[in-house]
Amino acid sequence: MPRFAYVNGQYRRHNEAAVHIEDRGYQFADGIYEVVTVMNNKLIDEEGHLDRLERSLKELQIAMPMSRQVFKMVSRELARRNGLDNGLIYMQVTRGVAPRNHAFPAANVPPAVVMTTKRMNFNKMKKFTEGVSVITIPDQRWERRDIKTVALLPNCLGKQKATEAGSYEAWQVDGDGYITEGTSSNAWILSKDKKLITRPLSNDILHGITRRTVLQLAAEEGIEVEERAFTVDEAYDALEAYATSATSFVTPIVRIDDKVLGNGKPGHFGQKLLAAYTDYAEGAGAS
Ligand code: PMP
Repeated sequence: MPRFAYVNGQYRRHNEAAVHIEDRGYQFADGIYEVVTVMNNKLIDEEGHLDRLERSLKELQIAMPMSRQVFKMVSRELARRNGLDNGLIYMQVTRGVAPRNHAFPAANVPPAVVMTTKRMNFNKMKKFTEGVSVITIPDQRWERRDIKTVALLPNCLGKQKATEAGSYEAWQVDGDGYITEGTSSNAWILSKDKKLITRPLSNDILHGITRRTVLQLAAEEGIEVEERAFTVDEAYDALEAYATSATSFVTPIVRIDDKVLGNGKPGHFGQKLLAAYTDYAEGAGAS
């Protein structure tokens, strides 16, 4: 259990930290969040995550509750107080506390900010060496999946289905049979002719910060990339597949539903991308 959480300007003991019962995040899921990974005491892609945090707030017309500089300071101070050398920092901003009413409260109601940390051991994760399986499910979310809101119920239901199936992730499928993304990660395949394929940015998916970095790294590795939607059948027929997110890095997928990919072991391209990502996380991407 971490020792401290940050709540609206204060570092509180984690087991006593609380928000008001009329916080709009609690009543309406009226808020946004970010997850930044910490590796060897450094934050990975912090600027990208703060860019997206600002964008999500803007899309929901919630004011930036404090400057980027203060977000950076508070993240580091919370990590320091919690002795977090490897793990994640969770940051959440909601529209604040007001008597329950769907319409926004008065402009002088301040947004509410919470930050927590979670320890993780990235070295000992079997998912990177053995790979994982995913299932496919219908995408039941709203049309603004590009905003990182705390309204994650369809994602939770999907992840629970995956968990019950013994799988790591559920890949969500749109009405036309194309995969959008996982419930908490972006979806990728490597086709038999060795093209790396992932869905292009739009309101249909979250604009993953790891996705962006992996696209850069793939180009540097000389891997041919196609940003386009792909179907479930194409995924079944792929050579390799991956899930990317701040805490998944580039997780190799070795089975989709009941279709085993390749020899059922993490493939060459995925291992190359994962190694490139880990190098990046320890070097250029670290701050
Ligand atoms: N898609 C969804 C739905 C997610 O929740 C996440 C994780 N936040 C991602 C993709 C991956 O985003 P990132 O690489 O920024 O963690």
